[in-house]
Amino acid sequence: MDCLFCNITSGTIPVTRLFENEHLLAFPDINPQAPTHLLIIPKQHFSSLAHTTSEQSELLGQLLTTSAEIARQQHLATGYRLVINTGHDGGQTVGHLHVHLLGGRHMTWPPG
Ligand code: AMP
Ligand code: ZN
Repeated sequence: MDCLFCNITSGTIPVTRLFENEHLLAFPDINPQAPTHLLIIPKQHFSSLAHTTSEQSELLGQLLTTSAEIARQQHLATGYRLVINTGHDGGQTVGHLHVHLLGGRHMTWPPG
């Protein structure tokens, strides 16, 4: 399967690996929408959050707690936003589950 983020995980496409463990990888978004804009992904391929089930509960928990840990490492003490765009209407453009970590500026609501 030709998946951009699987190619990043495997190292075929090089990125700055800001965090990595057995299950997860974090790297900078190539088109940052905030002073800090990282992507945190499971190394295992899931096309989106909608393609996960309770079987992935532990992994999804790690995805969130690790995102919070990375936010601390990035000194985002005044706050940040996590985004999981899901499917066409969710604005998802890369078909491999990922969390956006956005910070370093004040976020507005509602999102576009
Ligand atoms: P989404 O629109 O939620 O699917 O987010 C996909 C994100 O992947 C976008 O914010 C893109 O800027 C980002 N992106 C696309 N290609 C790369 C790449 N090669 N390295 C890092 N981020 C990328
Ligand atoms: Zn993938």
